[in-house]
Amino acid sequence: MRRIAVLGATGSIGTSALDVIARHPDRLQATVLAAGRQVDALVALCARHAPAHAVIADPALLPRLRDALRDAGLATQAHAGSDALDALVSGDACDTVVAAIVGAAGLRSTLAAARAGKRLLLANKESLVLAGELLMAAAAGAGATVVPIDSEHNAIFQCLPDAHAHAGLQRILLTASGGPFRGRSRSALAAVTPEQAVAHPKWSMGPKISVDSATLMNKGLEVIEAHHLFGLPRERIGVLVHPQSLVHSLVEFVDGSTLAQLGLPDMRTALAVGFGWPERIASGVAGLDLLAQGGRLDFEPPDLDAFPCLRLAFDALAAGGTAPAVLNAANEVAVSAFLQRRIGFLSIPAVVEDALAALPAAPADSLETLVAADAAARRHAERVLTSFAA
Ligand code: NAD
Ligand code: MG
Repeated sequence: MRRIAVLGATGSIGTSALDVIARHPDRLQATVLAAGRQVDALVALCARHAPAHAVIADPALLPRLRDALRDAGLATQAHAGSDALDALVSGDACDTVVAAIVGAAGLRSTLAAARAGKRLLLANKESLVLAGELLMAAAAGAGATVVPIDSEHNAIFQCLPDAHAHAGLQRILLTASGGPFRGRSRSALAAVTPEQAVAHPKWSMGPKISVDSATLMNKGLEVIEAHHLFGLPRERIGVLVHPQSLVHSLVEFVDGSTLAQLGLPDMRTALAVGFGWPERIASGVAGLDLLAQGGRLDFEPPDLDAFPCLRLAFDALAAGGTAPAVLNAANEVAVSAFLQRRIGFLSIPAVVEDALAALPAAPADSLETLVAADAAARRHAERVLTSFAA
């Protein structure tokens, strides 16, 4: 029986993970559920999945969580705060961790899972962007199996089953849907609203990653994510816009072969790969009928003029050190401000570019250095937001 901690249980990935878990009561069990601030939603999940432990991030909400679990007649133990979460993730309560908290807030628990040698289903891409070297080294040191839960990286993972395949790897091509604004010019993007930005044409996701998909920062974060997961330099990672979102990425080998993984755009496939690997288990996702999907697979290059975030991410990866941490933190602040209508859509790349220029890359030799760079970038981005106000 695989005993699973789902971090970010109330979110889009968390919901998909619990859907797959519930399909396999004989082999998968949710033992820890964690969320940020949504007590009622967390308690509802506990009623359905009966985990041993529930964790709410905000300690002020612990009494509410405890009372609500008791009132519902549930035996689930209530916990709060990141120390409690780290202890549960590291201890005997689970052998598998779905890291699906959004943003750099997920770094601590993701690292704890890696250090404890757990099977790590890694959706929290921001932790890889922020501290990819440390995270991958911690996972390797503790023997943790990392399965990427990002459709592109999960596709590449499936195409690189062993060390021989890895040795023959030439380059990887990440596919991108292009988001809701594909084909628009830069000037046509000035007035887009948060509602338009989160209305993704192919994927149903949380608000932050939906905006990242609309700016193409999501693809930029994924380039950095791929660099850490698969050990490839920037020059050997390409991006291809593929509006149907059926080819989830491609892997090219030295012999001229290219392998791809295809499927409907539904994260339950990647999660089922993560839970079952190397076995294949049912995910609830239907097989792919290419004719029913319109019978076409189209590809085009990304437009770096309209979507400069992708360029900024490539540049941050090339600069190395603290630059990706600064990129990620400034982006989190800018996206949040955009969702609150404090800045316009085009101000997102402007804020990130400003932060990268103001805080040049420094060597990132420790977690403290990276966390400090993240904090400095957040402070800088907050400060300059007003000058980029919509
Ligand atoms: P979401 O906004 O739907 O859910 C986020 C979850 O994190 C919620 O459960 C929330 O309660 C929790 N959370 C937020 N702040 C927290 C904090 N400080 N402490 C503890 N918990 C906190 O987001 P999502 O779309 O599920 O994305 C989650 C992660 O997965 C992101 O890093 C995203 O980039 C990645 N991802 C998502 C998808 C997708 O299809 N949704 C695909 C690939 C990667
Ligand atoms: Mg992705």
